Order: sequence, then structure tokens, then C-alpha cells
Amino acid sequence: MPAVPPTLVRDLRFKVHQDYTRVVLDLQRSVSFTQSRHTNPDRVIIELQNSRLSETALGKAKHETFPDDITIQQPHPQSVTVSLNLDAISDYKLLPLSSPDRLVLDIYSRAAEEAHAAPAPPALAQPLLPSTPTIRSAQRPARDITRIVVDPGHGGKDPGAIGHSGTAEKDITLQVGLKLRDLLAQRLGKQVLMTRERDVFIELGDRAKFANSKDADLFLSIHVNSHPQRSTKGLEVYHFGIASDRRALEVAARENDVPVKDLAAGVQFILADVLTDKKIQDSLELAWSTKQAMVARLDERYDVVDHGVKTAPFHVLRYTAMPSILTEIAFISNQTEERLMQTETFLTRMAEAIFDGVKAYVNPIQTVKR
Ligand SMILES: [Zn+2]
Repeated sequence: MPAVPPTLVRDLRFKVHQDYTRVVLDLQRSVSFTQSRHTNPDRVIIELQNSRLSETALGKAKHETFPDDITIQQPHPQSVTVSLNLDAISDYKLLPLSSPDRLVLDIYSRAAEEAHAAPAPPALAQPLLPSTPTIRSAQRPARDITRIVVDPGHGGKDPGAIGHSGTAEKDITLQVGLKLRDLLAQRLGKQVLMTRERDVFIELGDRAKFANSKDADLFLSIHVNSHPQRSTKGLEVYHFGIASDRRALEVAARENDVPVKDLAAGVQFILADVLTDKKIQDSLELAWSTKQAMVARLDERYDVVDHGVKTAPFHVLRYTAMPSILTEIAFISNQTEERLMQTETFLTRMAEAIFDGVKAYVNPIQTVKR
């Protein structure tokens, strides 16, 4: 593969708001990035892969007016890092946007949080790493959610991924979906609609259209993962966006039933033009809430591997008008997880775990963790 020249971070912008500071990195094109937590000092490092800072961006990052708790550097000719000082920052949100490509980083400072502890903050910022120190205390009213669409992946002539002992993804997603439907209806009193309730084939486009036509408030798609390496296991939750990494792109390509190269060239780069900031933000919060609940509940009984919240250009997430997530509940290609998915107990727990996450999103709880 020919070497791709580093993506230029053309410019840096920041604005200090009452409750948060927004930093925008204007990019030449989209970039992959990783996030990692470090100690001494306590910080999160976001690394933009194969990228470099323009003179303008570098000058602004070094300028005395640039916020103290964010350090943007070029430690290597082909990598840019953004370091967040967690002694001063309570939360952050990172959102890749396109048209034009940019990374939006919202930082919530501890000082601002404490100063404004009494009134309700404008937005619940979900921590982006499982180990991020706080969930913001929030006096938020319940969200106005009436109708939820549950979308069990695949069906009929499309079995989805198949395990080594023959388990079909379509059967697992349907069982979990039906259990989830009952929980949402019975325990949360929501109206729940299913894209399918039995073993039938439904086009991806029709799933999104169905949810849009029913004026649904949330869309929950359930899938089962697969990987050529049989040892790979665990769960991940997606919301729509540019693929977070190569594997996210491969997962979306498989679920969209298109070759990776087509997906990478096309849908991958369409984003902010059709999606409202509100949908993006709400989907991100729903994804975090769900992922955290899944890990918390399943971890009590199973050895859960947390692949985190990711973004990828899934068809059903792209064309739904409401906040939407896609859960990849486990790997059917992993023998242990395939066996677990053959048990009623595991599927029930999985449905309960997703339910917990949706519930936490719908009725945000007031929690402060330090
Ligand atoms: Zn699938």
C-alpha cells in the first residue's frame, strides 16, 4: 500500500463558554484517532493517526491564550496528540464531523462544574472512556420518548454471521430483540415496534424507513459480531459516524453487506450534512449509556471484554431520523461466546443489560462519581 501523506490539521479554534470550552480541530480530511488514559499526571491522550499540525495550528496551540488544561502537540512527524488534564477537567466529549472534516472537543472543567453545581447543566456529558472519573451530576428531566423501534439484525434468507457450531446471528438477534421489546414495554411503559418479529428477510433500507414512518423516538439495532481471529470476544456499541478504526469499518461493511472498499469510498464521508447535531449527540449519549450498562451488568457473571463505543457508517444508523445505536452483543466466531449465546440465561441477561442502558438514557439518574 502506498504511504498516505499525513492529514493536515489546518487550524485550531476554541471558544470558552460558561459551562464548557469547545476546541475544534479543522482537518484536511478525516482521521483515525485513539484515546487512552494515563496517570501521573492523570490525563487522557487523544492521538490522531498519521497527521500533522499546520504552522497556524501549532502557533495557536502554543499561544498563551490557549486553554491551559489542553495540550496539543506534534510529538512525532506523523502524529498529533491532544492531552487533557483530568485534574482540571471533569468530562469531555469528542465528536468527529465532516463537510468539512473536523474534530469537535467539548471540555467540562471541574471549576465550572462546581461553580454551577446548583442549576441544571445544559447537557449531560457522558464520559468517553469507561475510566473517566465522573458522570456529571445532572438534574435532568426524563426524555420525551414515546415509541421505540427494536431492530433484530438479519432474518430469513440472510442468516448474518454463523458460528462454528452453526448458530446463526439472525436467531440470536431475534431472541434478544423480543426480550428487549417485552422489557421496554412492561418495565418502562414504552410503545415498542419491531422491524421483525419472526424469521423473515427485511431490507436494510426498509428498516430505517419503518422507524421513520412510525415517528419513532429511538432505534435500537441488535447484531452479533464475527472476527476471523477466533479468540476475539466482547461487546461494542456503535453510533453513526466515520469509522473509528479499520475494524469498525469492516464490521459496518459486513452489516451493510457491501465491500469494505465501497464503504470506505462512499458513505464513510457523508455525515454532518444529513444528521442534525441533536441526533448525533443523543445517539452518542444513548450509545455510552447502553455500553456502560451492558458491561456493568454482564460483568457480574461473565468475563466481558469491553470494545467500547465506536462510530461507523452503518446503513440503518445513517438513514434513521431519530437517535440510533447498533449493539454488537458478542462474537459468534468465539467458541465461548457462541456457547453462551445458545443459553437462554445469557440472552435474557443481554436483553436486560441493553434495557438498563436505554432506561438510563431515557431517565437520566442523578449520579456523581469521583
Ligand atoms: Zn449483523
